[in-house]
Amino acid sequence: MNLYAGLWGGLMQPAYERLRGRLTPGLSIRLEQSQYWPLEVLARQQWQDMEALLNLARERVPFYADWFANSGLTVEDIIQARDLSPLPVIGREQLMADPGRFQANPKPAGTFAKATGGSTGRPLRFLVDPASNQWRLAMSRRGYAWAGCRPGVRQVYLWAGDFTPPPGLARIKRGLHRGLMGQIYLDCFDMTPAQMERALKVISRFRPACLVAFTSAALILARHAKARDWRPPASLRSLIVGAEALHAPGRQTLEAAFGCPVFETYGSREFMLMAAECPRHQGLHLSMENLYVEILADGQPARPGQVGQVVVTDLHNSAQPFIRYQNGDLAVLGEGACPCGRTLPRLASVEGRVLDQLTSPDGRRLSGTIFPHLLKDFAAIESFQAQQDRLDHLTLRLVLRAPLDEPQRRRIRQAIGGALPGVEIAIQVVERIPPTPSGKHRVTIGLGQEDRP
Ligand SMILES: [Zn+2]
Repeated sequence: MNLYAGLWGGLMQPAYERLRGRLTPGLSIRLEQSQYWPLEVLARQQWQDMEALLNLARERVPFYADWFANSGLTVEDIIQARDLSPLPVIGREQLMADPGRFQANPKPAGTFAKATGGSTGRPLRFLVDPASNQWRLAMSRRGYAWAGCRPGVRQVYLWAGDFTPPPGLARIKRGLHRGLMGQIYLDCFDMTPAQMERALKVISRFRPACLVAFTSAALILARHAKARDWRPPASLRSLIVGAEALHAPGRQTLEAAFGCPVFETYGSREFMLMAAECPRHQGLHLSMENLYVEILADGQPARPGQVGQVVVTDLHNSAQPFIRYQNGDLAVLGEGACPCGRTLPRLASVEGRVLDQLTSPDGRRLSGTIFPHLLKDFAAIESFQAQQDRLDHLTLRLVLRAPLDEPQRRRIRQAIGGALPGVEIAIQVVERIPPTPSGKHRVTIGLGQEDRP
């Protein structure tokens, strides 16, 4: 560990945060313990926080003041039943249509605005209060620590650059903070060969313990590293990926290239870290102390193993309570206890975006999540993207690690054709899968959805 970064991350930063009256150091200590509490104790705490949140929403947020007035239900009814289902599920479009109705009035001191990415679609602007932000930071630090990525440990980030860079002083402060924390940032939108060379050089010279990357950027860099016969530094202990779903073949590629275990994380601008893998790699533990996460299939709780919509309630954002917010992602709940001993429930997998749905000519909707399953047995396929161009035509872009002969191509067409009858499949071999304008890699693109972030 870099001595200065270690001192800063381990001692000075918590002291500084305490001086500034921030909750993060205390929360971090508590979260280290609560991850092992009996599930019932965690759940009881969740419903206590939920009660405070719903009371605040009813008193200060116009949408919920109206809802409670009209529903005939009280906060106590919901808390006693431990059942959020009477409350409406809220989508992003609804929040954007009338933002003021979902924001608290008055707002907590120090409330600030954040926005989700999306350079083509309209970004969602929302409010966060400082205490909620400190919760998020503490949750993220704990999740990253599971991968050995603690403050002060050398880290290289291959992450999204700024949509709008912060103003001068804020940029200098951020640069200083990253330097003290032992972090180097590289822009993952800019994955040109020259930039990839630079990234490998930075990793070789800086010798980080931990690499944090957009999943697709890590995959592109892994392929480049392999072609260059690049050897990862012995210091590298873990690779944390996020922002896009990771499928089994991708994980193998990454582990081979970087010579360390891969830790998948699931987060978003709205809530920061929502779930992360522990060292046992058997699903992603939810950030249960900060978020109440439901997985719904057709409006009902999904069974373990069943794909459902992710619906999130943020227990601590009193500037803009997100209550049953449907973020547009699909995930699968895990079941049983994790061998690591943490009691936090797990997601078995994060399956990507709801938007990535395909339509068959007979009008059926099909989740794009079938492609990883259909294509997982074709070892020659490094990565892929399926785009439905027309109702009866689909282009399958493939990045190959070995040539694909005609019988294999036929088997791929048959596998997809079986799931999507009446759709012609064109296979296109490409050098790389282009990212969306917001820098993410999409496995499937449904009809008319190519420009969605
Ligand atoms: Zn675990």
